[in-house]
Amino acid sequence: MRETLHLHQHLDGERFWADVEAQAAIGALETGGIRRLALDDADVAARLWLIDQAGPLGCTAFYDDLGNVFLRREGSEPELAPLLIGSHLDSQPNAGAYDGALGVVARLAVLRALHDAGAAHDRPVEVVAWTNEEGARFAPGASGSSWFAGTREREAIVAAEDDEGMPFGAALEHCLARLSASGAAHRPAPYRPHAFLELHIEQGPVLESLGCPVCVVTGIQGVTWYEVEVQGQANHAGTTPAAARQDAFMGAHRLIGALREAAETQDEALRFTIGKFRLWPDSVNTIADLARFTIDLRHPDPAVLDTLDKAFQRLAEEDWEGCRVTLGVSSRVAPVAFDAALLEALEASVASEWPEAPQIVSGAFHDAIHLARCCPTAMLFTPCRKGISHHPDEHIEKAEAVIATRALVRAVDRLLAS
Ligand SMILES: [Zn+2]
Repeated sequence: MRETLHLHQHLDGERFWADVEAQAAIGALETGGIRRLALDDADVAARLWLIDQAGPLGCTAFYDDLGNVFLRREGSEPELAPLLIGSHLDSQPNAGAYDGALGVVARLAVLRALHDAGAAHDRPVEVVAWTNEEGARFAPGASGSSWFAGTREREAIVAAEDDEGMPFGAALEHCLARLSASGAAHRPAPYRPHAFLELHIEQGPVLESLGCPVCVVTGIQGVTWYEVEVQGQANHAGTTPAAARQDAFMGAHRLIGALREAAETQDEALRFTIGKFRLWPDSVNTIADLARFTIDLRHPDPAVLDTLDKAFQRLAEEDWEGCRVTLGVSSRVAPVAFDAALLEALEASVASEWPEAPQIVSGAFHDAIHLARCCPTAMLFTPCRKGISHHPDEHIEKAEAVIATRALVRAVDRLLAS
C-alpha cells in the first residue's frame, strides 16, 4: 500500500455546504423542500449544474444512454477501471433536499479535495448521478443504476409511462438533448468500475439516537412483495346465517393474523407490512366476496425470506372462513451483503472520524443494491433528523454531514493508495 494523500485535510466544509445549498435551490418548493421528479426540468437542471462543476475542477463530464451523468478526474493510468462514487439527484414529489443529492455533493467534495491537493493518482475517479432512483414518476426506480449494472434492460425501462402517459423514453430523449447541448461528451455504454461507494442519509432513527454522524452500511436487506386474493361469496348481510357465510373480509382478517404470527417467529430484523387492502363489492350491507391485499416482507438474510415464503404458501392453502386464497409474488429482490475488503477500508475511515460508530443494514433500497451485482460496493450513512425523509421536513446537521463526507474522503484516499 502506498502513502495516502492526506486528502481529508483538503476537505473544505464551507464549500461543501455551499454546494448542498446550491443543489437544494434547484426545484425548491415555496413550502420548503424540493420537487425534482426524474427527467423533469428541475431534475435536468440539477444534472446540468453538476456538469458545470467539471471544467473548473479539471474533470471531464460524460453522460450515457440512460442519462446518467459522470464527472471524471483522470488518473495517470487511464486504462485502469475507475473508482466510482455517486448517488442520485431526482426526488419524491414533495421531498427533502438531501435524499440522494447529499451523496452527489459529497462526491463532488472528494473531487474538490483531490483538485485542491493537486493529488496525483493512478486510477481515474468518477462521480456519478444516477437517473430515476426514486421511481416516483416512472416505476420501478433505480433505472440508471440497474441498467448500468446489467440487471435491467433498456427496452423495459424506457417503456414505463408517468401518470400523464408520457413515456420514459420520450422524457429521456429530451434530457439527453439538453445534456448533449451542455457540452458533456456522450459515452453510450456502461463499464465495470473498480469499486462503487455511496454516501446517503440514513432515512431511519438509529444514528440520531446514538448521536453518531456517520457509519458503515454492511448491506441492504432483501424484499419480497406479495399480492393476496381472498375469494368468498357475496350475500345479504342481514339474512345470511354465520354457518352459511363465505365472508372474504373475515377470511382475510384471520389469514392476516396467521401470516403475522408466522412472521413473528423470526428475529426483530424482520419487517412485515400490509400497505394496501381493498374489499369488493364495497357495500355496507353486502358480505364481501373479494378481498385483496399486499405484503411487503423484508429481511437481510435470504434464508429467512425463503422460510417465510414457504410458510406463507402453506397458509394460503388452508381454509379461511370457507374462502379460497391465492398468494402470488409480484417482486423479489435478494438481500445484498457488501464487499468485505471494501467494508474494511470504510470501517477504518469511519473509525478515524468516529471510533464508536455502529454498523447498519439498510432497510431502504439504494442504487448500490444494483451496483453490488457488477463490482465491489459499499455505503456510508449519515443521520437525518427523526429519521424523516421523502418529506420537506427532512433535515441534516451541517457539522455531521461534514464529518460523514470527511470519512468518505478518507475512504477514497485509502482506496486510491491500495
Ligand atoms: Zn435516495
